[in-house]
Amino acid sequence: MSNILNMPRGLWRKLIFDLRTRGAGRRESGAFLLAPPNADRITAYVCYDDLDPSALDTGIIVFHGSGYAQLWQLCEARQLRVVADVHTHPGNWTEQSYADATHPMVGMPGHVALIVPYFARRNALTLRGVGIYRYRGNHQWQDCSSEHTAFNLSLL
Ligand SMILES: [Zn+2]
Repeated sequence: MSNILNMPRGLWRKLIFDLRTRGAGRRESGAFLLAPPNADRITAYVCYDDLDPSALDTGIIVFHGSGYAQLWQLCEARQLRVVADVHTHPGNWTEQSYADATHPMVGMPGHVALIVPYFARRNALTLRGVGIYRYRGNHQWQDCSSEHTAFNLSLL
């Protein structure tokens, strides 16, 4: 399990713009973050609503099984793997909800879940205030939001 994950700053900016646009300031939006095999750098992302058009409809993320079929197909075709997911919350609260903690988007130990505050209206340039959680399995998460944890996510 790698202790580091990087993301090019330009890709992060694009991601935040996408999350902000799709959430339109009134509903959560999200994406899977993808990396090549054995690499610690995120090189692509795919938005939930591109995989499952109804994922954002209720205001909170509800991602259906059909979306996963699309996701695995895309990963196979592009030779990428899912290393993290990201979704937005309305205000400054970026802890995991009960649903967030008990329903990991990918249930693999080491998978990272990010929570971006204010429906991604801020954070175009920084990870400040972003919730960062690493899955340990069995509904256990490690809170990596502070800078001083074993796991580190950084923008390059
Ligand atoms: Zn949440």
